[in-house]
Amino acid sequence: MELSCIGVGAGPSNLSLACQIHEQIGQGALFLDRQVDFRWHPGSAFDSSELQVSHFKDLVTLVNPRSAYTFVNYLHENGRLYHFLNAQFEAVLRTEFEQYLNWAFHRNPLVRGGEAVREIRFDGEFRVHTDNAVLGSRNVVVGIGKQAHIPPQFQGWTGRNLFHSSELLHIHPEVHKKHVCVVGGGQSGAEVLLHLVGRTKGRRPRSITWVSQRENYLPIDNSPFTNELFMPCFSDRFAAMSESQRKLFLRRFVLASDGIPESTLRAIYQALYRHAFLEPNRCEIKLRPGCTVSHCINAGAGHRLTLQHGMEEVEEVTADIVILATGYENAVPGFLEPMADRLEKIDNELAIREDFSVCWDGPRDRRIFVQNASLGQRGLADPNLSLLAWRARRILDSLLGRAPRANPEHPGFISPSSVESWSDTVAEEMGSGI
Ligand SMILES: Cc1cc2nc3c(=O)[nH]c(=O)nc-3n(C[C@H](O)[C@H](O)[C@H](O)COP(=O)(O)OP(=O)(O)OC[C@H]3O[C@@H](n4cnc5c(N)ncnc54)[C@H](O)[C@@H]3O)c2cc1C
Repeated sequence: MELSCIGVGAGPSNLSLACQIHEQIGQGALFLDRQVDFRWHPGSAFDSSELQVSHFKDLVTLVNPRSAYTFVNYLHENGRLYHFLNAQFEAVLRTEFEQYLNWAFHRNPLVRGGEAVREIRFDGEFRVHTDNAVLGSRNVVVGIGKQAHIPPQFQGWTGRNLFHSSELLHIHPEVHKKHVCVVGGGQSGAEVLLHLVGRTKGRRPRSITWVSQRENYLPIDNSPFTNELFMPCFSDRFAAMSESQRKLFLRRFVLASDGIPESTLRAIYQALYRHAFLEPNRCEIKLRPGCTVSHCINAGAGHRLTLQHGMEEVEEVTADIVILATGYENAVPGFLEPMADRLEKIDNELAIREDFSVCWDGPRDRRIFVQNASLGQRGLADPNLSLLAWRARRILDSLLGRAPRANPEHPGFISPSSVESWSDTVAEEMGSGI
C-alpha cells in the first residue's frame, strides 16, 4: 500500500499530527514508533517530576479543543475528572501526562508501536525500511526527539559510573555511601539532585557535588510576557530574523526554557536544610555554581574532575559516580543517510521551510518534514510542548496542499516592531554587534 505520509516516531510531536490526521482524514498515514508502549523520557521519569507547561498544551487542545484527544477527555474517559480537580495539583505530574500520551498512542489506529525505522531511500517515492517491512510513501515526517548531549571532556569515559541523566533510572547506580557529582545546573540537573537528596537516610550518598556553569541555580522564566515567545506568531517572527539575531535570542532567553521551576528549587533548598540541621546521617552537599568541568580523567573505580572558575582551575573533585545533566542535541537520523547529501543543512540542523519541510533537491511534492529538530530556526518553543499542536496542524495543511492557516488567536501583545528592536538591545547587552 502506498501512503501519503509515514511518520517516524510517535512521541508527542508526531502523535499530535497522527491525532489530527485521524480526526480530519482518517486514513492515508501511518506512524511508526520503536516503543511498544509509549514511555516519555523513561530514564529520567522521576516520581515527583511535574509538567513544565499548562496541560492545555496537550496534543490537540490549542488547535482544536473539541477533539477527542484532549487531556481533559483522557481524564473524563478514565473516570477521574472530578478527582483531578479535587487533587488540586499545582502542575500535572509527568507520570500522568505520560499515561495520557500512551492512551492516545494506543487509541489512534494510525500509530503502530514496536516498529523501528532503519533506513529511508528515495526512488521517486520514499521507501521506509523497518525490521518487518518496506513501506512506500509520498512524504515522511521525522519526529524522533533529541539525543543526550555528552560534552567532549567526558567522551570516552561513559559507562555505569559516568552517564547522562537520561539513563539514570535505567542504570539505577548504587549511590549509597558513594561520592556523586552532578554536572549541569538546568532543569535536568535540579531533578537529579532532588532525586538524590530525597533518598531515605539509610540510602543516601556520602557526598553530592552539584556543578553548574551558570552563576547560580536560576529559576525558569515563566512570566506572561516571556511566554509570548511560546506563541505561534513568535515562531514565525523568529524564523524571519537573521541567523545572528536568532542565536542571540536563544542565548538571551535560555532561562525561558531551561531554568529550574521554583517549586523544584524550593524542594531542593528544603532538603538541604533538613540534611544540614534536622537529620543525623548527613550527606555532605557541595554546591559549585559558576564552574565548568575542564577535564575529566579516570581515577580507580571513579573519576577525577577538574573544576574551572573563569580561566582559573579551582578544585579537583573525585567522584565514584558522575551524572551528566548536560542537555540534549539534535538526533542525527541515521536512517536518512542514503539521502544525506541531498538535504540542506544550517549548522547541525536540517534547513526547513515555513511548513517544516526540509529543503532538498527532490521533487517539491515529495517532502521530508521534521519536528523538534529546528530550535535554531524556529526558537525556544521548538522542543517544547507549547507549539506542538500548531506545528502539526501546519504540517497537515501542507500535506493537504492548503496554505498555512491564519491563527484565530489574537496576535501577541508585544508588537512585531518591538521584537525587532529587542534583538538590537539584546545584541548591545551581550556586547556583540549583529
Ligand atoms: C526529561 C524531559 C522532560 C521534559 N519535560 C517537558 C515538559 O514538562 N514540558 C515540555 O513542554 N517539554 C518537556 N520536555 C521536552 C520534550 O522534548 C517534549 O516534551 C517532547 O517529548 C518532544 O516530543 P518528540 O515527539 O519530539 O520527541 P520524543 O518525546 O523524544 O519522542 C520521539 C519518539 O520517536 C521514537 N523513535 C526514535 N527513533 C525512532 C526510529 N528510528 N524508529 C521509530 N521510532 C523512533 C522514540 O521511541 C520516541 O517515542 C522534556 C524533555 C525531557 C528530556
